[in-house]
Amino acid sequence: MKIPFLDLKLHNKNLRHELHEAFDRILDSGWFVLGAEVKNFEREFADYSEAKYCVGVANGLDALHLILRAYGIAEGDEVIVPSNTFIATWLAVSYAGATLVPVEPIPATYNIDPELIEKAITSRTKAIIAVHLYGQPADMDAINLIAKKHGLKVIEDAAQAHGARYKGHKVGALGDAAGFSFYPGKNLGALGDGGAVTTNDPELAEKVRVLSNYGSKVKYHHDVMGFNSRLDELQAAFLREKLKKLNAWNLQRQKIASEYLSNLDALKIALPYVPAWADPVWHLFVIGHDSRDRIAKKLADCGVSTMIHYPIPPHLQSAYSGLSYSLGSFPISERIHKRVLSLPIGPEMNMTDVNSVISFVNKALN
Ligand SMILES: *Cc1c(COP(=O)(O)O)cnc(C)c1O
Repeated sequence: MKIPFLDLKLHNKNLRHELHEAFDRILDSGWFVLGAEVKNFEREFADYSEAKYCVGVANGLDALHLILRAYGIAEGDEVIVPSNTFIATWLAVSYAGATLVPVEPIPATYNIDPELIEKAITSRTKAIIAVHLYGQPADMDAINLIAKKHGLKVIEDAAQAHGARYKGHKVGALGDAAGFSFYPGKNLGALGDGGAVTTNDPELAEKVRVLSNYGSKVKYHHDVMGFNSRLDELQAAFLREKLKKLNAWNLQRQKIASEYLSNLDALKIALPYVPAWADPVWHLFVIGHDSRDRIAKKLADCGVSTMIHYPIPPHLQSAYSGLSYSLGSFPISERIHKRVLSLPIGPEMNMTDVNSVISFVNKALN
């Protein structure tokens, strides 16, 4: 038996007809960058995310980086980030030239701990990036309250959370601006790279749009030193087809997660904790155990693919050796990275496979 971690091939094959039609539409139009598809996708994705504006960009990292730039965050400014996240959250701050101020997560939810944020604020703090890790929203009311008190921007890293809800509201306009990724394996994934910024702030949206397109509002007139970071027509056309299915795909992920939650042995492993106000979209289903590697090995022997998100926290990556953090700098994150294991989950996974995974995991724990 083989149970893949995420069957992207099957996922895209099931949309073969729609994707081919989208491809033909672009080929026949002869227009490949910043045209009708991007414009329509931006409208549709803004609506989907309950945000007023959406700007397509080249990827999720750029989305976060351009938001920081658009807010004028630069050298000398401090930005609070989770210590437990994918490295892109950190890189966006580094690209802007600002100083990273990592804050530890709540172990049960893996998301940034609002109570620790306030202690990390200084006179130089300009923004907080809240990551909705694994598809579960961070505690946005608590974060917004602190931000308001100190006059800070709140940026959502929603790269793993398309469609997730916090107290009934979609992620994407819960703070000042949000960055999304459409990397192929995300809940809404392109057939290549892609990203977007969503916001209710028209000025921010306009600034990101200008920055993403060579700092230009009018062709060949450059107001600022911008970047080339655009979502292309082809990816936008694919994303428009996929967006129509996103709710159904997220529902399947939720169904799988609830099966895992009810049947995995909660006495022996740490299961994800979902606060009452959260409607996660389960980009990943992550369990925790001290013998994580042994469980992963046993599952692999049964044909079940698992992954680790992530094996090394950003502060211990060679890329950040210059910050002179060491083992012990962020113990909660370090413990998480040693214990986590992501089980197979995805829109094409069937319940027979889910139940096989459950019995293999429970058996591996004995
Ligand atoms: C994927 C991801 C990103 C970056 O997205 P890219 O499109 O790969 O640049 C940023 N933050 C988080 C939490 C992610 O998972």
